[in-house]
Amino acid sequence: MQITRLTIESHEEVYRLEDAESGLIGFIAIHSTQLGPAAGGLRMRPYGQEDEALEDVLRLSRGMTLKNAAAGLPLGGGKAVIIGNPATGKTPALLRAVGRAVESLNGRYWTAEDMGMTTADMAVIAEETRFVAGLAGGAHGSGDPSPVTARGVFNAMRSALRHRMGTDVLTGRVVAIQGLGNVGRNLGALLHAAGARLVVADVDAGRVSAAVAAWGAEVATVDRIQAVPADVFAPCAIGGIVNHRTVPEIAATIVAGGANNQLATPEDGVALHRRGILYAPDFVANGGGIINVAAEILRRPDREAWVAERLARLDATMDAILTRAASEGVSPNQVAERVVADRMAAFAA
Ligand code: NAD
Repeated sequence: MQITRLTIESHEEVYRLEDAESGLIGFIAIHSTQLGPAAGGLRMRPYGQEDEALEDVLRLSRGMTLKNAAAGLPLGGGKAVIIGNPATGKTPALLRAVGRAVESLNGRYWTAEDMGMTTADMAVIAEETRFVAGLAGGAHGSGDPSPVTARGVFNAMRSALRHRMGTDVLTGRVVAIQGLGNVGRNLGALLHAAGARLVVADVDAGRVSAAVAAWGAEVATVDRIQAVPADVFAPCAIGGIVNHRTVPEIAATIVAGGANNQLATPEDGVALHRRGILYAPDFVANGGGIINVAAEILRRPDREAWVAERLARLDATMDAILTRAASEGVSPNQVAERVVADRMAAFAA
């Protein structure tokens, strides 16, 4: 396998991975180890070009630095991506090659599940490296992080509702969910149980049918889900969905979801704010999963209590961010970035 180090000024370490035997082409990016070893999931997607994958891993790993700091974790930011279709191209040999690359970094980067990955895949990776979490078994295995991610997003949505509507009662509220994968599905179940009405979109027709059957959800097309009349738009699929094209179309008054890197640019957060749409910053809203993973990385013996306590602190952080954004009249994203910068500066001092 060829592991080639790339020099990218914004990041501590970036590697291109190529393994002819398994067909692996991918990247590992360590954005920052200032707060601790870099941690962040492994994503597999059919990226069109290598540059697209590289851009994604750079953005996602920076996002992990923000997320881990916002969650108060002693972890830095990193991420890994594989170019390929997880439905057709994911083989044990490919996963093991990623595992060897992770092991070669000697603990400076910890991997776990992200889009296209499961706990079973993490078990294969664990055959090659100690630095993998999100395992279903073992002494410290924390399993699939998605239910905890969804719980954190649900809490963030309620926080945004309290700030915007004065009540977080979900009965009769309409939530438009984009993406019914691990996070979107768990989030939909929580919202349905709380009495919300759901409108859903996914490129996978089977997942849409399941949501209709389970929750009586209405269906929107994937390119119009942001425009359906709703109280909340919950992006739970791809990044960059809040952009110059979609901001004018968003019909909800709140954007709160689980996807990483929802804003195409920071200016899109400002544009949402100008339109009077309250944005729950993604790297705070979706921090539940990494908290769950962190309990495994940090070998917490009191895992469940520790995760619950950290999740409660994350909710308090979201509340404080939305309160400060309202009092300063700025976008919550700007406040969230400042909160993280302050935490990192305090740590460095
Ligand atoms: P997943 O792969 O399980 O699900 C993604 C879903 O989105 C799939 O059902 C897919 O068909 C659908 N999708 C893809 N493109 C779409 C489009 N254009 N329109 C509508 N649907 C589309 O992934 P996941 O684990 O649920 O993660 C979803 C998002 O949340 C990602 O951005 C991920 O990085 C982020 N996230 C996940 C976790 C976690 O714990 N899984 C934690 C933090 C953040």
